[in-house]
Formats: sequence, C-alpha cells, structure tokens
Amino acid sequence: MLIGEPIVVIGAGVAGLALARALALRGAQVTVLEQAEAIREVGAGLQVSPNGLRVLNALGLGESAARLGTEGRSVELVDGTGGGTVARLPLGSGPTAGMFRFFHRADLIELLAAGAREAGVEIRLGVRVAELRPGDRPTAITTSGETIGAFMIAGADGIHSVVREALNGRTAPFFTHQVAWRAVIPSEAPVPPVARVFMGPGRHVVTYPLRGGRLRNIVAVEERRRWAEESWSLTDDALALRVAFEDFVPEVRGWLDRIEAPNLWGLFRHEVASRWWGPGLAILGDAAHPMLPFLAQGANMALEDAWVLADCLSADPDRDAALASYQARRQSRARQVVDAANANARNYHLSGIRREVGHLGLRILSRLAPNALLGRFDWLYGHDVTAAG
Ligand SMILES: Cc1cc2nc3c(=O)[nH]c(=O)nc-3n(C[C@H](O)[C@H](O)[C@H](O)COP(=O)(O)OP(=O)(O)OC[C@H]3O[C@@H](n4cnc5c(N)ncnc54)[C@H](O)[C@@H]3O)c2cc1C
Repeated sequence: MLIGEPIVVIGAGVAGLALARALALRGAQVTVLEQAEAIREVGAGLQVSPNGLRVLNALGLGESAARLGTEGRSVELVDGTGGGTVARLPLGSGPTAGMFRFFHRADLIELLAAGAREAGVEIRLGVRVAELRPGDRPTAITTSGETIGAFMIAGADGIHSVVREALNGRTAPFFTHQVAWRAVIPSEAPVPPVARVFMGPGRHVVTYPLRGGRLRNIVAVEERRRWAEESWSLTDDALALRVAFEDFVPEVRGWLDRIEAPNLWGLFRHEVASRWWGPGLAILGDAAHPMLPFLAQGANMALEDAWVLADCLSADPDRDAALASYQARRQSRARQVVDAANANARNYHLSGIRREVGHLGLRILSRLAPNALLGRFDWLYGHDVTAAG
C-alpha cells in the first residue's frame, strides 16, 4: 500500500527512527528531518522491556539489540538510608526470559539510525521544522523557509513537539516538584545484571549496568520546591546531587562522588494528547504522551507507537482512516502507562509509618511470591503490538 509513497518523519529519536525503518521496510520513501547537526546522544541508559524488544525484533534488529543491550536478570528494591534488601523481583521467566535489556542511549539510537539507513531512509540533519500545514498533501516548513510536501508527515519531535501543537494547540505541563539527575560512570568492577532501586523519603536512586557491566547508569530523583527545566542538555553542579543524598548508604554515596557533571531534568506532568492525528499528520512517542520516568516506558511506548502507526498506514488505503485507527489502538494504552508511572513515584518515596508498612509488605511478598510482584505488570510487558492488526 505504501510502495513509493513519500513520507516525512520529524525527529531522529527512538520514535522517529523506529517509524522510519518500519515504513521503509513496507516500501515507503522516507525522509527524516532532524534539527540537530549530528546524531549525538547524552550519556544515559534506557531500559527496554519485552513489549519494546518485540518491536525491535519485528524490525529485524533483534540480533544487534541482544548484542548491544545488557540483559537484566532482576530488580532489587533496597532501603536507601538503612541498607538491606526490601524486595527482589526476578525479571523475565518463560517467554520473557532475556527480554529485559539495558541500553546506552547512544547505542540504541545508533542501532535504529543504521537500521533506518539500511532500509533506504534519508536522514537530513540540521533541518528544523517550524510550521505544519495539514491537508491532502501535508507540508512541513523549515526555519530556513524550505517547504516539504509528502503523502504523510509524522511528528516524532519529542516533548516540545511542533506537530502536537499544530494538532492540539498549546498545552501547559505542570512541574511535579521532582527532578532527576542522570549520569553514567565507568564501573570499578563488572556491574551485576540487576536494576537496583535505593528508596528514601522523598528520594530514590536507580542504578543498572550498561555495555556488559563496564558502565554504571545512575538516575537520582529528588522531590523539591525549586524549579528545573525539562531539557536533555542541562547540567548541574555535582555537589547539589551529593548533598541531596548525603544520608544514603555509603555504596550509593561512593558512586555519586565519582560523578562530575550530571544532567539535570525537571520532571513535568503532561496530559496525553487528545488529538493524535489530523489530515495527513500524526504524532508518536513523547510528542503524543510524555511520561514520568518511574516505569521506564517512554522509549518502549515510542517503539510500540512506531510499529502500530506503520501497521495502520500499510493496512488501510484510506490514509486518514488509517491515522484514526492508529489513535484508537494507542491512546488508551498510553493513558494507562502514564497513570501507572505517576503512581510509581509515590511508592518509591514513602516516609514515616507508611514507609515501614510498605516495606514490610514488600519484604513478605517478595519472600513468599517473588513472581507475583512482577506479575502485576503482565498487562504492560506482555503486550505484543507486533502480533495484533
Ligand atoms: C530520567 C529519565 C529516565 C528515562 N528512562 C527510560 C527508560 O529506562 N526506558 C524508557 O523506555 N524510557 C525512559 N525514559 C524516556 C525516554 O527517554 C523518552 O520517552 C524517549 O526518548 C522519547 O523518544 P522520542 O523519539 O519520542 O523523543 P526524543 O528522544 O526527544 O526525540 C525527538 C527528536 O526530535 C528532534 N526535534 C524536536 N523538534 C524538532 C523540530 N522542530 N524539527 C526537527 N527535529 C526536531 C529532537 O532534536 C530529537 O532528536 C527516560 C526519561 C527520563 C527523563
């Protein structure tokens, strides 16, 4: 259905590159427009769970993903100030064994970019889209004044999406009074294949291995009054990070001591977009549903969206009907995941008596029925967009 159709994708992140490959493999002539002069990625990790990995496999990138992504075998919840394991959850058994992978963002982006180019996608760098015109032949107008028309234009342009704004008007997110510092440090000894969450009142630290355990990824979240910008490129004084976690166990403080210039990211709550498409336009990934990082699902949802959008467009000769069924297949799932990510922040940051009771419950459950804890997320990780439609 898509053979030879010119399609423009705005944004060369996880969503845009995955969509570009998916469409090109179905015969479309795809151009990606990326505002950055080079595909450069901040040093940070990404957890890809079975629902996202199924998309990488279906895109024919499974072998490289298995090579580049470090397998995660379990999640450990640890009392961040007192020490001691609160709960241990085995990751993936049966059909999901080996399907939780920890990636360096740069490796995942490089994998997808190479996959897109190999499928015939043209990636144009240093091209920033300023304006969109929906219609029979939608057009993107760049900041240099170039007008680019196509059969369809997809906005995979992230949290500050111009395509989302064209479809939904301007919406104002609100600051959650939480910030996340992110850093990657070389590891002293091979990091075990475990994601560990150190929980404290109003704060937590997540750490897991990257590149086969040679690197350690660190995300540290603090609730605070002071505002911070929602940006990938903001760095902070490492001292502020160390002070925020000075009462955490020595193991955590030791890692934080070795961080020089952490990235700082203000965490904002956004509504899931109410309109995901208009004549010839659609949005996906963070452009459609930015989410808090507490369920590690933003990139996984971007992969799911990319697959479903390509699937809908290739299944239905009526372009706009295809875009409507894309929204119908994705919007409620995105809302469910956004809500679950919001709830997780509260669970990690308990204090006082609620913390004691919560930790005790987790300890008992993890000893008696470790699989039951992760089983609560079957709806999330068991979802297979590549099987439907
Ligand atoms: C602290 C933290 C931890 C996280 N951890 C995880 C995790 O473990 N697992 C997970 O799945 N997700 C995680 N996420 C979320 C994940 O990183 C994002 O959801 C995901 O990267 C979104 O991908 P995207 O392609 O939609 O957007 P982006 O990666 O933001 O890509 C958008 C691209 O569009 C380009 N662009 C923007 N505007 C224009 C324009 N006008 N013209 C041309 N180009 C443009 C940008 O330069 C960029 O390259 C985390 C997020 C945070 C903040």
